[in-house]
Amino acid sequence: MSVFQHLEGRIDIRQLSISLGKGSTAFEAVQGLDCQIEPGQFVCILGPSGCGKSTLLGALAGHLQPRAGTLEVDGAPISGPSPERGMVFQQHTLFPWRTVRDNVAFGLKMRGVGKAERLQAADEILALVGLEGFAERWPNQLSGGMQQRVEIARVLVNRPRLLLMDEPFGALDALTRLNMQELLLGIWTRIRTTVVFVTHDIDEALFLADRLLVMSARPGRIIEDLRLDFPRPRTTELVTRAEFSRLKRHCLELLRHPDDRQLPRLTPLGLPPENYLPRIAL
Ligand code: ADP
Ligand code: MG
Repeated sequence: MSVFQHLEGRIDIRQLSISLGKGSTAFEAVQGLDCQIEPGQFVCILGPSGCGKSTLLGALAGHLQPRAGTLEVDGAPISGPSPERGMVFQQHTLFPWRTVRDNVAFGLKMRGVGKAERLQAADEILALVGLEGFAERWPNQLSGGMQQRVEIARVLVNRPRLLLMDEPFGALDALTRLNMQELLLGIWTRIRTTVVFVTHDIDEALFLADRLLVMSARPGRIIEDLRLDFPRPRTTELVTRAEFSRLKRHCLELLRHPDDRQLPRLTPLGLPPENYLPRIAL
C-alpha cells in the first residue's frame, strides 16, 4: 500500500498517444506513454524541443484529448480543463487591467466565492510567493520574476491537485531563474501539491525534481525515469556536487544519443554503475 494513498494528485498515464494536426498532416506528438506519478511528487520532464512536452502537459490540463490510451487524476479520467489542474506558462497570462490581488482572486470569483473570502485567500497566497505589499500593483509594474510569482499564486489560490509548469522560468535571466527555482521549492515544501514541471534545461530539472522523466525526440516516449534523492532543502551548492555532474552527463548523453542502447541505466540511487565510463567529458 502506498504511503501517499490518502493524498490527492495521483496521475495515471496508460498507453497514451496524442495526435496533432489534421488529415494528411496529422502526426503522433507523443506515443505509448506509461507513467504513474504519486501525489505530492515533484516530477520534471526533460526532452529536446518539439518532443511533445507541451502536448503532454496540455493533455494533463485537459486542453487536448488523447487519440489512444487513458489519463487519470485520482482515478477520474480528465475530460476538460479544471481549476484543479492549474498551468503556468513561460509568459504570464495576467490581466493587465486588474491589480495583482484581483488577478489572483479572479479564479475564485469565477467560482462564486464571496469578495471578502477571495481577497483574503489572494493575500495569503501572495504572502506565500513573497509578494505581500504588491497586491495593489498592476502586472506591468512588476519584474518578470514577480509576474511569474503572481502567475503561480493565481494557480495555487485554487488549491489544485496538479501544478503544471511549462518552462515557467525560461524567459528569465539566469540569476532570477535560480531565485525562482529556490522559491518554488520553498512553496512546494509547504503545499505539497503534485508538480509536473517541463524544461529542456538539465540543471533545472536535476535541481528541482524528486523524479526525472526524459523524453525522446518526436514522437515523444519516456526513455529514462530517474529518482533524485538529493537531500532537501536544496541550495545552489548542489549543482557543484560530483553526483550532480554525473547525472548531468548521463542526461546529456541521453538527449544527444536517445537511441543508443549502450547507455547503462542508473542504479536506484540515480548513480551510474561503478564500471561505467562516460564517453564524453563535460
Ligand atoms: P515541446 O513542448 O516538447 O517543444 P510540443 O508538444 O509543443 O513540443 O510539440 C510537439 C510537436 O508538435 C512539435 O513538432 C510541434 O511543432 C508540433 N505542434 C505543436 N502544436 C501543434 C499543432 N497545434 N498543430 C500541429 N503541430 C503542432
Ligand atoms: Mg513546449
